[in-house]
Amino acid sequence: MELHITGLSKTYANGVHALDDVTLTIPTGMFGLLGPNGAGKSTLMRTLATLQDADHGSVQLAGTPEGNVNVLRDKDAVRRLLGYLPQDFGVYPKVSAEDMLDHLARLKGLTDKAERAAVVAALLRQTNLFDVRRSALGGFSGGMRQRFGIAQALLGNPKLIIVDEPTAGLDPEERTRFHNLLVEIGEEVIVLLSTHIVSDVSDLCPSLAIMNKGRVLVTGTPQQLVASLGGRVWATSVGRGDVAAMRERHAVISTRLYTGKTQIHVISDGPPGLGFVPVEATLEDAYFAAIGGHLARDHREVAAGHILSHDAR
Ligand code: ADP
Repeated sequence: MELHITGLSKTYANGVHALDDVTLTIPTGMFGLLGPNGAGKSTLMRTLATLQDADHGSVQLAGTPEGNVNVLRDKDAVRRLLGYLPQDFGVYPKVSAEDMLDHLARLKGLTDKAERAAVVAALLRQTNLFDVRRSALGGFSGGMRQRFGIAQALLGNPKLIIVDEPTAGLDPEERTRFHNLLVEIGEEVIVLLSTHIVSDVSDLCPSLAIMNKGRVLVTGTPQQLVASLGGRVWATSVGRGDVAAMRERHAVISTRLYTGKTQIHVISDGPPGLGFVPVEATLEDAYFAAIGGHLARDHREVAAGHILSHDAR
């Protein structure tokens, strides 16, 4: 299977260009859509989940059991193939996990009671909620609620699974648990994971796209994006008052407080000056470099990753 998104654009009534000519090819497996708040991730996810319309562009889901599906037009087929965990996943607080999942399974067309009970039990086990299946959803922790969200998304054996910012607000332990659950979903389906947390992607996704302001800035594997920075990331540590001056002189990609000083990462082809040391680039560096526009400007034709230059469009 492959999801082909071509020239997708969306402008809201208030004039915000939430999607600006988005073109992406998403293979089977887990794919990360990484970008800051407001990048357009949810708009893209909701459009793929048939919940809202784009202004321009086309989307095809190729090689499904139902053949090639025109995602923007054939919404019923998409819904049969789709599992979706929205960003604002709400639950009925007084209903138990088991009853809610049973209800949703019936809506998905599982009419046979015994078959439904078996599916519901299996999903509750898979998401580690079997022991609390009789508890009301309102008492669930954030992590339990998100795992329940995955259980409902997996109803009906979806081939395209979309999870929108699923780890926001989870503590580290719950996040790891949630990551493990996503990994187990399998390699035969497309799992599209939107997030602003770099480690969600670096831990889970063999390929990713970085988005900002409605545009796809770069796509590739985490290794390709890191390699595209090769040897050009430098670090130094300065007092907090000196950060502004550093920004004026250097292409600063990130700043971070560390034991009272500010650690600065800059991107530069050669040594940027006294006090800088070369550091091994991380996906976080690549992310901040892309968001800051440094990746596209400095390396227009990186062979490894597919860096998209705005000037070239
Ligand atoms: P992300 O999921 O990456 O945070 P969104 O798709 O939610 O991004 O938002 C992209 C941009 O579109 C933001 O500037 C946001 O404020 C705007 N936006 C999102 N939904 C609407 C809407 N229904 N009406 C107007 N603007 C919207």
